[in-house]
Amino acid sequence: MPGKKKEESTVELNPTSIEDVRFDERDLAIFSIPDIKTRISVVQNYFFPRLEFLVRDVLGVIQNIYEINPYERINFIYRPSNRKTAKNNMDFFEAYVGISGKRRTDRDLTILNRKGVPYKFHPCYLFFGIDPQGTMYVEMRPFVLYVDDSTRNSFTNLVRKNKDLLEPILAYFHITYSGASSFVPLIPSLKTEQWPFFRSYPPDLPVYYSHNLSILVWSFIALYPILDSIISIGEGEEPRLSELLNKLRNYWLDHYTGDAEDPDREEESLSSDDIISTLPELDSYNFIRAGVWWNVLSRDNWTCCSCGRTPKDGVTLEVDHITPRSLGGTDEPENLQTLCKKCNVGKSNKDNTDLRRNFRSSR
Ligand SMILES: [Zn+2]
Repeated sequence: MPGKKKEESTVELNPTSIEDVRFDERDLAIFSIPDIKTRISVVQNYFFPRLEFLVRDVLGVIQNIYEINPYERINFIYRPSNRKTAKNNMDFFEAYVGISGKRRTDRDLTILNRKGVPYKFHPCYLFFGIDPQGTMYVEMRPFVLYVDDSTRNSFTNLVRKNKDLLEPILAYFHITYSGASSFVPLIPSLKTEQWPFFRSYPPDLPVYYSHNLSILVWSFIALYPILDSIISIGEGEEPRLSELLNKLRNYWLDHYTGDAEDPDREEESLSSDDIISTLPELDSYNFIRAGVWWNVLSRDNWTCCSCGRTPKDGVTLEVDHITPRSLGGTDEPENLQTLCKKCNVGKSNKDNTDLRRNFRSSR
């Protein structure tokens, strides 16, 4: 909508195109929800669909560049857990969705932990993450401090062998490791007792495709060969790090650096104003400004206005429009009420019952 202010824009929770994927400063209010159970379920509902869409979209590009089917050897990973019923879900003060090697149920991996016990899952993660300070990043965690010496040596030797290919790629895509704030040579850092990990340039929110998201996407693509190699080590196969890095290098040279190509071509994607004006109509289940729904949940004492249950009773709380947006309802606090998921599902979208009155008068 022309002239619409940026802060009135909305976030598409279930994007259908990477141009719709947007992470906003307002999303950070999620990390301030005081009740841990509610906080985790909100992280699951509000971050995971967008992050998962992003990972799937990038896996499509990975398939194309590396000429492999990544789904054959990966599982999705989530933090906090994506299981709605997780009994002891912890808050790790970050939200991420990414990939790891496919969990084996048929046999053990060749990777052992420090006690000599074989792993069933691959100790390596590659993911898109968001932290409560408001930065977004791509990270590759090889967990080399947790594995046996033989695995760590295989990994170190692999990095050493491919240093000349790997270092320029990491530098080009602004990827640092082991917490360094700028690029440092690979091998010395891997020898330290630090926790080695590879991390993208971490932009502050908002992040969307024409504003830093493409940098993160390319970091994920560039780090995929390292994840793939650690999976190979775990499976007892020969890592194909140099093969994949060469494919990335050649793809980049073919597509982005030739004279025939306009180097600004990639910058022609939608501007932020275009993205805002093309967002679809919202219904009452969609995103409400994070600060607003936090205020509503807090005003209603983190209690369902219909049945009076709280997250302590095992319910997930949602913010409902009393008059749905489709009937002209606004995002003003007086049109919003806290409902548990069960009560909200029972309340039709066409219905504009203010359940707060029912609840209050029945008390
Ligand atoms: Zn309820």
